[in-house]
Amino acid sequence: MSDHDKIRELLPLAAAEVLDQQEERLLAEHLRTCSVCAAQLEEWRLLAGGLRRLPTPQPRGVVVERARAMAQIRLTEHLEHQWNRGVMTGLIAFAWILTLLSWPVFRFISGGFLSMLDPQFSHTWLVFCVFTTLVWAGGGAAAILLSMQQRRERSLA
Ligand SMILES: [Zn+2]
Repeated sequence: MSDHDKIRELLPLAAAEVLDQQEERLLAEHLRTCSVCAAQLEEWRLLAGGLRRLPTPQPRGVVVERARAMAQIRLTEHLEHQWNRGVMTGLIAFAWILTLLSWPVFRFISGGFLSMLDPQFSHTWLVFCVFTTLVWAGGGAAAILLSMQQRRERSLA
């Protein structure tokens, strides 16, 4: 059994504050390096806090269910946030790659075109600038749409 698995079994006990000193030390040491266990302990503490606030020693199903649902919502929100950040990073990287990759191709095509018609070189730069602006505007529009969707989801929750 790995350290991680052992710690995972301690998490509910840690939330209930019934660990002995040695276990407490073990847990603290592991949490410094493992964000998964740290996040899970937070969820357990939330649940334990919800249980402690119950008026009767016998937890009513509804309240436990609600505490569990709240923990689940928080976890989902966290994952969604991470996913959105990943998409944003991907979009920006995509825009950059597209810009950088398209430049040599564009140079080549317009270069051949230029040698035939011999217009001013600054024309090439102008078209490239417009093209780059369009790519970035596309990325920006996607980012705005993403944040709008995120805000809508948050207002629904
Ligand atoms: Zn762990």
